[in-house]
Amino acid sequence: MILRTVRTLPPESVPFHLAVGRILAEPVVARHDVPSFANSAMDGFAVRAADVSTPGAVLEILEEVAAGQVATVAVAEGQATKIMTGAPMPEGADTVVRVEDTEEDNGKVRVATSLAAGTSVRPTGGDVVAGATVFEKGTRLSEPHIGVLATIGVVEPVVSRRPRVAVMSTGDELVPPETEELGPGLIRDSNRPMLLALVAGAGAEPFDMGRIPDDADSLRAALGQAAVEADAIVTSGGVSMGEFDVTKLVLRDEAEVEFFPVAMKPGKPQGFGTLGGTPFFGLPGNPVSVLVSFEQFMRPALLAMQGANALLRPRLVGVAGQDFHSDPSKEEFIRVAFMGDEAPPTVVQTGGSGSHVLSGAADADAFAVLPVNVDTIEKGDRVTLELFRAVETRVIERD
Ligand code: AMP
Ligand code: MG
Repeated sequence: MILRTVRTLPPESVPFHLAVGRILAEPVVARHDVPSFANSAMDGFAVRAADVSTPGAVLEILEEVAAGQVATVAVAEGQATKIMTGAPMPEGADTVVRVEDTEEDNGKVRVATSLAAGTSVRPTGGDVVAGATVFEKGTRLSEPHIGVLATIGVVEPVVSRRPRVAVMSTGDELVPPETEELGPGLIRDSNRPMLLALVAGAGAEPFDMGRIPDDADSLRAALGQAAVEADAIVTSGGVSMGEFDVTKLVLRDEAEVEFFPVAMKPGKPQGFGTLGGTPFFGLPGNPVSVLVSFEQFMRPALLAMQGANALLRPRLVGVAGQDFHSDPSKEEFIRVAFMGDEAPPTVVQTGGSGSHVLSGAADADAFAVLPVNVDTIEKGDRVTLELFRAVETRVIERD
């Protein structure tokens, strides 16, 4: 339903050094071969393979070519040209002997090995062929993509515009995170900073609309502004069955917004729809529910709005390092960490199971996904893992 609702945003060109995380709005086609000329993969001597079919050949050295230079004479029978890595192959030569396998003496070079034709030569088009589609439309650009774009002179790739996302939290109990002393019954607003970061991590551009009290008029005003200014809106809190669940109260009568329970844990109460045509995500209030529902519903939507081909995080099968229990009527997303680095990974739960235990989610590497109709996964059983973050985990001991 969400993916049917959201629309891909229009394309724009961006300088390639700012394009990491952006999604190609059109395919990238190579205008020339890479390498565009055959060149040496080693420092050594460019030779004719026919001359080095047996070890011990002695060849006359013609000249020396460094990277950026071009040979002035062709290599003929019995001859060699000294060549550096990246320098173009001279006419006539088809093979490079590495300098380690040679001895140079008085204008001659003795080649200690025999070599097959093409050894240590990087052929024309060996990386990218002229006219080929190098990257498909919908590819999310990573650092090596930027390097490849540079090799073919694409300095301003055409990508989809980033969705501008209005982020607001609701709740009379919320105070700004920087508050010195918490008054009775008050908590720091953690969902909004986390959502701002999650939105940015999905390649979108968040803007902060602050904390909204549990007051219908305040929320209505904020949503009205967001519907005009944003490409998508996300709220946290106020979507369940409580008397002060203001998000639901305000939007209950909107024709284009629905509130419904989803058979998942955490994240059961959800709201979704459009406000003046702008996609609206009414996430629950519990912080772990926010994380899980963002991952399941909003992140794929934001990627779809950017035209991405792949919308879902990677999944792999791991091994339960403990018993896991789940309500069989719901799909459950348990926060787990890898024990060690063996494959398949063995996982254990981090922190408590409550949807308020955000520190456990911070320690997790993955969600263990327990599908509907499963109530127990026993220690040693296979379990589906959804990798929702991949950061450095290996430690180097230093003194
Ligand atoms: P609600 O869905 O509004 O009833 O909120 C569910 C739970 O999440 C309550 O314990 C709230 O205090 C808590 N909560 C709601 N919004 C936030 C927030 N922005 N930051 C941290 N906790 C929140
Ligand atoms: Mg609330």
